[in-house]
Amino acid sequence: MANKEIPYKIYLEESELPRQWYNVRADMKNKPAPLLNPKTLKPCTLEELSEVFCTELARQELDDTTPYIDIPDEIIDFYKMYRPAPLTRAYCLEKALDTPAKIYYKFEGNNTSGSHKLNSAIAQAYYAKKQGLKGVTTETGAGQWGTALSMACAYLGLDCKVFMVKCSYEQKPFRREVMRTYGANVTPSPSMLTEVGRKINEQFPGTNGSLGCAISEAVEAASNMEGYRYVLGSVLSQVLLHQTVIGLEAQAAFKKYGEKPDIIIGCAGGGSNLGGLISPFMGEKLRGEADYEFIAVEPSSCPSLTRGIYAYDYCDTGAVCPLQKMYTLGSTFMPASSHAGGLRYHGMSSVLSQLYDDGLMTARSVKQTEVFEAAQQFARVEGILPAPESSHAIKVAMDEALKCKETGEEKTILFGLTGTGYFDMYAYQKFNDGVMDDYIPTDEEIKEAIDRMPKI
Ligand SMILES: *Cc1c(COP(=O)(O)O)cnc(C)c1O
Repeated sequence: MANKEIPYKIYLEESELPRQWYNVRADMKNKPAPLLNPKTLKPCTLEELSEVFCTELARQELDDTTPYIDIPDEIIDFYKMYRPAPLTRAYCLEKALDTPAKIYYKFEGNNTSGSHKLNSAIAQAYYAKKQGLKGVTTETGAGQWGTALSMACAYLGLDCKVFMVKCSYEQKPFRREVMRTYGANVTPSPSMLTEVGRKINEQFPGTNGSLGCAISEAVEAASNMEGYRYVLGSVLSQVLLHQTVIGLEAQAAFKKYGEKPDIIIGCAGGGSNLGGLISPFMGEKLRGEADYEFIAVEPSSCPSLTRGIYAYDYCDTGAVCPLQKMYTLGSTFMPASSHAGGLRYHGMSSVLSQLYDDGLMTARSVKQTEVFEAAQQFARVEGILPAPESSHAIKVAMDEALKCKETGEEKTILFGLTGTGYFDMYAYQKFNDGVMDDYIPTDEEIKEAIDRMPKI
């Protein structure tokens, strides 16, 4: 098998779609720390979590022991509309870099929402529907998550209320219209519809909003409406779980050709695509069956793994969500407005935080302009116009491939290409005009936000 010529795209059959998600927590010796109730500071119970999330999702959130969880048939049917996603051999990029490395990427942008977020959106909407709920509320920053959730809710006939960070609402009218086309109700945040929103509007008149604030609004809105629950597009362990279809498919595709990656790279905002991509491989590493190098890539403007601390922190501005132990810059940290909106979150998945703290994964931060240089080179040779978030992974994959050129090593590199950049043309315009900047927070700025964190 090993010598068979590898095609540009390795396709799986529909029948080869994963039937179960893989829960990496089951194989972790050091489990992620439990979520804490923000009022009692005690670990959240299933009952408490079920007030915010759908019961089945709350159960998945708390499940540290079941390694495989069946994917319901209805979700598999939806996945079939845009999965399995091919594993692509980046022959053209290899040639352009003149590297002996073999580069592969798993592209998740082949659906209307344009990113991997649909993998979890359909799962979360499905469990809400099954519980007999009327609808769900959520926040969206750049808009990818809101779009994915709108699509999933339209498919299942659920109501969808999205609180969209005000500056994105104004700057990304097309994203907003996609959501409305799918039937979602989109409100700029902070709004006057919630107590948290009114308070923030009063305190900071004319504010552009933030993700942390939009989360608080969405949680409050859900708790005030009969038959609604809140859903979140990243960070949570349930979201990582749903995203493991990415890694499971990649693993199956490699196996077809007797190949295996040495290095696996992904961009990290809240950690869901990276966690989903690496989980099955990390499981092999944790069980002592194989070894891999894992690299999380974050923007140097919001470097939670590389410059944050590992501690309990709030997930949102209003402190209504459970506290999570994670690598964080502090919930009051205000990342500079970068063009990779999906990576502008102060914290990180608790699963990835624990794996990183245990030395099982490494992290790097990269600057915005070097990310766009990589994106441009990739687009020109591989054809796909990548999302700015995804381009963080491209940048480090290229760095690793160039290292191989120096050493002559034939390493196999896999990276996650999470989405397309069609809604990010304003960012590309800035890059093309040469007016893009690289903001890197100072140690003092980071320390200030960390000093304001809860002491637990
Ligand atoms: C949201 C998003 C990300 C970052 O989110 P994670 O939860 O860290 O995966 C990355 N790429 C794209 C295209 C996104 O939309």
